[in-house]
Formats: sequence, C-alpha cells, structure tokens
Amino acid sequence: MNTNLSQGAKFYNDVVAYFDKAAALTNFEPGLLEQIKVCNSVYKFYFPIELEDGKVKVFEGIRVQHSHHKTPTKGGIRFSNFVDEDEVKALATLMTFKCAVVDIPFGGAKGGIKLSPIAYNAKQLERITRRYTTELIKKNMIGPAVDVPAPDYGSGPREMAWIADTYATFKYDDLNALGCVTGKPIGQGGIHGRTEATGLGVYYGTREALENAEDCKALGLTPGIKGKRVILQGLGNVGFYAGKFFAEGGAVIVGIAEREGGIYNADGLDIEKVFQYRKESGSILNYPGAKNIEPSLAVLEMDCDILIPAALENQITKENAPRIKAKIIAEGANGPVSKEAEEMLTAKNVLIVPDLFLNAGGVTVSYFEWLKNLSHVRFGRMEKRFNETSASNIINMVERITGKSLDQKERKILTHGADEIDLVRSGLEETMIYAYNEIRETKKRDNRITDLRTAAFVNGINKLGVSYQALGIFP
Ligand code: NAD
Repeated sequence: MNTNLSQGAKFYNDVVAYFDKAAALTNFEPGLLEQIKVCNSVYKFYFPIELEDGKVKVFEGIRVQHSHHKTPTKGGIRFSNFVDEDEVKALATLMTFKCAVVDIPFGGAKGGIKLSPIAYNAKQLERITRRYTTELIKKNMIGPAVDVPAPDYGSGPREMAWIADTYATFKYDDLNALGCVTGKPIGQGGIHGRTEATGLGVYYGTREALENAEDCKALGLTPGIKGKRVILQGLGNVGFYAGKFFAEGGAVIVGIAEREGGIYNADGLDIEKVFQYRKESGSILNYPGAKNIEPSLAVLEMDCDILIPAALENQITKENAPRIKAKIIAEGANGPVSKEAEEMLTAKNVLIVPDLFLNAGGVTVSYFEWLKNLSHVRFGRMEKRFNETSASNIINMVERITGKSLDQKERKILTHGADEIDLVRSGLEETMIYAYNEIRETKKRDNRITDLRTAAFVNGINKLGVSYQALGIFP
C-alpha cells in the first residue's frame, strides 16, 4: 500500500473503498457497478487574473461531474489551497450518493479553485470567481439543466451571486438563468433557510438517530438531544448553525475547535457569544470562562457524547481515533473520519452518522431553491393567505357553535399560513427523518451491514442501479 498519498488521494481511495464494500452487498452486475463508480467528467483548467499591482497570477480550477444518471449535476465549489483533483473527485462521488440517499433528482458534482480566500480581497475574489464561471460556460459545464454549483468550504452567498450574474450576462435569453447556481442571496433568487440548511440538517439527522430507545441503549445513551454534551470542530457555516440548533434543542456545547486552537467548558459555551468573540478578537482562544486547548485537534478527544466534525476531511484518523470519547460522531464535514479510523471506532461501538446522509441538508434546500428559480414564484405565495382564511373560518364556526373563543395568541398559532421558511424547514425535516429511517432499516435488514455508512451507500447504489437499468443498457 502506498503510504505517501496526498490527503486528496487518501480521501478518494476511502470513498471508493466505501463504495466497493457496499457494492459487494448489492445484486448489480460488475459493468453497471463500474459505471456507477467512475467520475463521468473531470475538467481541470488554468486561468490568468491581473491583480492590482499589475502582476498576473494563474489559478487552477477544477470541476468534476461524477454521475450523469440524472441531470443537472450538483455540488459545491471549494475555495482552498488544498484543493486537488482527487479531493474534488471524492467530493463529487459523495454528492451522487448523497443526492440518491435523500431522493434528490441530481447527479453529483463538485468544483474547486486552488487558493486561500483570506489571501485575496473582495475585488480580486470577484474577478477570480467570474473568470472560473466563464471557463465553465465555455465548456458547457454550468447551467440550470446542466450542472448547478453551490457554496462549499471557503465560499458563500457572495460568490454564488457573482456566479449567477456572470452566467446570466452570457445567457441573457435563458429564462431560468438564476437556477444555474444555488446558495445565492435572497435578493438574487436565493431561498429563505439555505444559509443554515446544512447545520439544521445535521441537527435533524442526529436527533432522529437519538429517537430510538433501543439504539440509544446500545450506545449507553438516553434518548433525545436534551442534555447531550457536544463538541464541534469548525465554527463556519455548517459548524456554527449545527451548534446553534443543538443548543436550541437542549444540548450543551462543551467544546469548540477552530484553526487557531480550541476551548472547553464542561458547564457549556454560548455558541453565539463565542462566534461574536472570535469575530471581534480574531481567535476563540482565551474565551472567558473556558479552558484553552492546544493543539486544536486535541479538543476532539475531550469528554462528550456527540462529536461534530464540521471543518475538513481526514480529521479523525487511526492516530487519534483510540482517544476519541464521543459515543456518536455526527459528520457535518465531508470525509472527516478516515476509513481506518471508522473501523476502529465502529469496533469500539461508536455510532458514526455518515456525511453522505447527515450533511445533505444543504443540497436538499439547494434543490428547493432550484425549484423556486424554475417556477419563478416564492414558496407559500399562492396558498398562505388562502390557508389562513380557511383556518379562520373554521375557528369562527367552532367558536360560534361552542360559545367559547380563543385568545389572540392561540388564534395566531392556529391560523398561521406557511411562509417560505416554514415550508423549507418542513421539507428539510421530512427529508432527513425519512432518509435516516431508510438507512437504519437497510442496516437492520442485512446482518452483514454493521455501520450506517455502508447502509447509506447500499441505498444510494440501489437507487442509481435501478435508474441505469431503466435505460435498458445494463441487464
Ligand atoms: P466554512 O468555510 O464556512 O467553515 C469551515 C470552518 O472550519 C472555518 O471556520 C475554518 O476556520 C474552520 N477550520 C479550518 N481548518 C480547521 C482546523 N484544522 N480545525 C478546526 N477548524 C478549522 O465551510 P463549511 O461550508 O462550513 O464547510 C465545512 C465542511 O462541511 C466541509 O467539509 C464541506 O464540504 C462540508 N459541507 C458544507 C456544506 C454547506 O452547505 N456549506 C454542505 C455539505 C457539506
């Protein structure tokens, strides 16, 4: 075995190994499984950008479309110095199975620009993002029916707005141009609830894993989120919102790890205050009342019930896995647990709720955003007032018949018609609960399956296999 592999190559090897393990448990013929496994298109390109000092810098961009069994393909764009082809292939592959696991009719894709976003100002980042988009347009690798990017590590709504605007400039006669990218700001075709969607999905998915008393007993935990001690790695989009919703659900955030180090307080940390503190001071270290933990990675080994890695891949490896104390690892990030570590942790009876299910909240709400862009109407616009009037009419009638009346607050709760955010959250909650139980059932049904990741891959492969068989090419 080659032990000098890059992080990206290791990640891709792990994803392929997860696939192979699950594929062996399905009944599809080898040719079909090979077609499901490979990345369909890999596009790597270089483009020049002139910086303010007049010097030209050449950037590397990548877009990988893993599967065209359904189109468009979909997946985020990572802005990071560590972006490499294998990493993007791993992430694109995960996207295919993620979409399948949560029944989203897209193939998987992923992209990246190799740069450190903090090393460039907004003007420079705008030029880089627009040029990256133009390169994709030139190769017909972006579009509402072709391939729809989204935010990922290092990118956010601002970058998505630049992408949408660039695409719409070139494709000014495409009525659905705004559907070329998701995760946009609301004012540019975005959807309420997308920003926090991945973190909220992490919460819904983990909450569902803690619903079943029998499963919790096997882990030595009581059912429910309330009172569970949580450690987070990464206070970015996924980590911050996951932490916020866990805290709102009654969990106690006891530890947080960021680039510069970590903090721990067994009595609990107020995540919003920690976020604000880091924003103002530039670091989470020395947060009042908490103990500094360095190096940052050591926080993951502290006492807790649930560990949420929400930063990068390969954070829990065979090196630190033996020291992990959490009973549940909730994978907010993609690929945070290496395959070797997963085997060691599963043997220790740690439940790993896998990335390809647990962080699917982002792509789920991205799917809703894409639907909104294609339908050109905000969710709830047509029915909200009608539903409110109907509910009011029923209450009026009941009040008349019974002679009793509701107070203002009660009436408001019962007559509230769904806004876009209500519908988005309801759709996300349903998606995560349904998919978790599908995965759990698959694991329960087949005693060769001992972990949720394999069960999720089996479900994903079965859904893709059926889709390919419908084409009549494969037996
Ligand atoms: P982000 O850039 O918003 O946040 C990442 C955070 O991790 C940053 O605060 C960064 O400082 C921190 N970080 C970096 N290196 C660290 C280290 N060594 N230790 C501790 N913290 C570190 O990115 P994000 O969008 O939250 O993505 C995080 C992970 O979640 C990635 O693996 C991404 O692929 C995955 N993911 C994101 C989404 C989404 O909707 N944003 C969806 C699915 C999966």
